[in-house]
This record gives sequence, C-alpha cells and structure tokens, in this order.
Amino acid sequence: MFDNLQDRLSSILNGLTGRGALSEADVSAALREVRRALLEADVALEVVRSFTDRVREKAVGAAVLKAIKPGQMVVKIVHDELVAMLGEEGVPIDLNAPAPVVIMMVGLQGSGKTTTTGKIAHRLTHREKRKVLMASLDTRRPAAQEQLRQLGAQTSIDTLPIIAGQSPTDIAARAVQAARLGGHDVVILDTAGRTHIDEPLMLEMAEIKRRSNPHEILLVADALTGQDAVNLARNFDERVGITGLVLTRMDGDGRGGAALSMRAVTGKPIKLIGVGEKVSELEEFHPKRVADRILGMGDIVSLVERAAETIDAEKAKAMAEKMAKGKFDLNDLADQLRQMQKMGGMGGIMGMMPGMAGMKDKIAAAGLDDRMFARQLAIISSMTKAERANPDLLKHSRKKRIAAGSGTDAADINKLLKMHRQMADMMKMMGGKKGGGMMKQLMG
Ligand code: GDP
Ligand code: MG
Repeated sequence: MFDNLQDRLSSILNGLTGRGALSEADVSAALREVRRALLEADVALEVVRSFTDRVREKAVGAAVLKAIKPGQMVVKIVHDELVAMLGEEGVPIDLNAPAPVVIMMVGLQGSGKTTTTGKIAHRLTHREKRKVLMASLDTRRPAAQEQLRQLGAQTSIDTLPIIAGQSPTDIAARAVQAARLGGHDVVILDTAGRTHIDEPLMLEMAEIKRRSNPHEILLVADALTGQDAVNLARNFDERVGITGLVLTRMDGDGRGGAALSMRAVTGKPIKLIGVGEKVSELEEFHPKRVADRILGMGDIVSLVERAAETIDAEKAKAMAEKMAKGKFDLNDLADQLRQMQKMGGMGGIMGMMPGMAGMKDKIAAAGLDDRMFARQLAIISSMTKAERANPDLLKHSRKKRIAAGSGTDAADINKLLKMHRQMADMMKMMGGKKGGGMMKQLMG
C-alpha cells in the first residue's frame, strides 16, 4: 500500500503525537515496518536482525521533539543508524606503498571487475596523475584478456601484453615485473570470476595474492545482489582478505541493500560505486544517499532537521492546545504560513517529501508557490486584531478595505477564509491532532 517507510511509519505512529517518548510497543510496531523496508531493499536477513536490534536500543525511550511526529522521529533514528553502519564517506584507494602499488580486483563473473578496472585506471591516471598498468588474469574466458586490451587502447592506458598459455598466477607475477620495469606507479590485476563461489576460485585468488602482494584487494559486487551478498562478502573476506568494496550498477533501480549487508559482515569500507557502463561512471560512495535509497524516500531527514531548527517547540505546543479546543484563528493560520515560508516554502517542503519532488512544477503552475504565502500573509496583516481572532466579522465592507490594504481582491480573501474554515473544522474533527491538514488544504 505504501511504497516508502516514511508513509508506513506515519500511518502506525502518528496517532501518538503529544506523548513525550517512544515506548517499547511503539518502537516494536515501527520496527516491523523497518524490517520490511530493509528486506524489500534486499538487505540480508541476518543484517536486518542486527540492525533492528541496534535501532530498538536507540529508539526506546527516545524523546520525541515536540514539533515532529513520532513516525518521523523513528525514520530519523533508523536513517542515522543506517548511515553509521554504511560507514565513512569517500574512503580513497590507498596508494601509500612502494611503487608499483598492486590493486587486485576480485568478484563473481559479470559483477563488473573488468569495467571497474578500466574506471579505476582512468581515475588514477587523470585525477591522481599516476602511471597505470592493467593486466587481465582471466584465462578462462577466451575474450576476457582482449576485452581489457581494447579498454586500454580506447582510454590510452597501458595493458600487459597478452601471452597465450600462461597461468593466472604467472600473469600476475609478470604484470608486477612489467610495471616495475615500465615505471608504472600502479598495477591493477583484473582476475577471473566464476558464476558462484567455489573452492578452485578461492584457491586461485589466494595464490594470486601470494604471488603479487597486493596493497588493495577490492571486492567488486553488483548492487543488485540480494540475500547472497552476505555469503559473497564473507567468503571473499575470510578466504582472500579484502581491503574494500566497489558496488556496481548503482545506476540500476535496486535499492542497494547489498551495500549494507556487505559492509556489515566485513566491516570493510565501500570505496567506490559504479553508476554506468562508461569509463567515467565511477563515483565516491555517499552513505547518506544510499541510506535514503534503502529506505525508499526523499530527504525526509533534512525536513525533520529543519523543522526542529525552525519550529519553536513551545509555540507548537500552544498551538496544539488551541487546536484541540477547536480554536484556530487567523493569527494561528498566519503563524503556520510563516513556518512554512521558513522551511523553504511549498517548493522546499515538497522537494523534501517522498515522491513529491516531481510535483514542484505543478505546484508553481497552480499558483501554490511562495507568492501565495506572501499574498495570504499580506491579507491577514491587513486585518484588525478583532478580525483575526474572529473571522466571522468579515462582511463585505471589511473585505473591501482589506483587499485595498493588501493589494488583493475579494476572491483572494474568500479563498483564504474558506481555507481557514476548512482547516479549523478538520482540526476540530481530529480532536486537535496536528495531521497533514495544512498540506492537504493547500494541495486542495
Ligand atoms: P566482469 O565479468 O566482472 O569482468 O564484468 P564486466 O566488467 O565485463 O561487466 C559485465 C557487464 O556489466 C558489462 O556489460 C558492463 O558494461 C556492465 N557494467 C559494469 N559496471 C556497471 C555499472 O556500474 N553500471 C552498469 N549499468 N553496467 C555496468
Ligand atoms: Mg572480466
């Protein structure tokens, strides 16, 4: 029914507004949804378990900021924990070793090792001004060495000359030797994969490692790897010993739960991500972005943070009490409009809401933009104190005066009054809970 965690949590938790802290039961209900969201994002089961345990510990008893709904609060806690578990941002490839620094690429067949070898070589050549040699150790697929040779030719990066009949370990030793003689700073070994993990593959990787003494061993994995991610990462890490991860196909529409799984079981940093087939399509890893993606939502966390900064908690409480009594006058409406203006207006708020970013243009086209706030605030400020407290006073002649004073017309004023009336009614009906009323009204 809901395609993002934010909506799900809102639906089960937001009835709790006004209570001070998250209870064990609230958190358990929320965690069932968190669990589902993580599984849908392809996070491995054992990682989901340890993750939800950690969140439970942080969330139970956590104070709910007055201006924020409990659902949003839990999302924030979940998000922050995800970011923490995904690890650091922008961990570079470590080249701090005597030249030639050996980088060994490992992973299953088709995971993107050869493509990523080219991408890393390209990056080190152009950004770090290093002289790079690439060598294919894939003797299993006839075309594999040729694939890397062509990649090198296209990007003007050296590749190790192909000699038929050599074993992968012999090629590795020859590559390091050639790099030393050729004055290369870095040599990247592109190994052969298998369709699945097996003993011969692990033995071959261990042997290549022994012969070439790599400084970095990067596990290349498809971001769409599902429940197998844990097994994959654990095996390569235990048997070969990896120094980092590269996730490919982050341009696909998976949610990237494999990132969390693999990072969680190995503790090794995600160093880079592949975002396309082209040699330039390699990026730094941003845990925050991946966390948003795993949770399937827009930047709800910044929304919560900004709300916490801008909304005066005491004022919000006073307003909630007034609303509970069904007293929501035009002063209160003006307050709300100002709050929304502070949060970046309709455009700013929508941009941060899950699934709403695309609506920005429509909102502008409907005139529901920042000019609307300004116009409505102008109308309210042209009223007398008595009129603001009691909008029923606003008959024809008063409206004419206000229109003249605010540079608007009677229709604008009627629209504002109608909106206010509907909001006040709705708030009375909801018994004062601060629902998404304002938003719904405005979206009309
Ligand atoms: P290997 O068997 O591990 O060496 O895998 P390859 O490097 O040959 O890649 C297999 C396929 O995945 C190729 O068609 C690549 O173009 C594609 N590929 C690799 N990385 C990415 C990526 O980040 N995004 C996309 N969309 N495709 C990728
Ligand atoms: Mg390959």
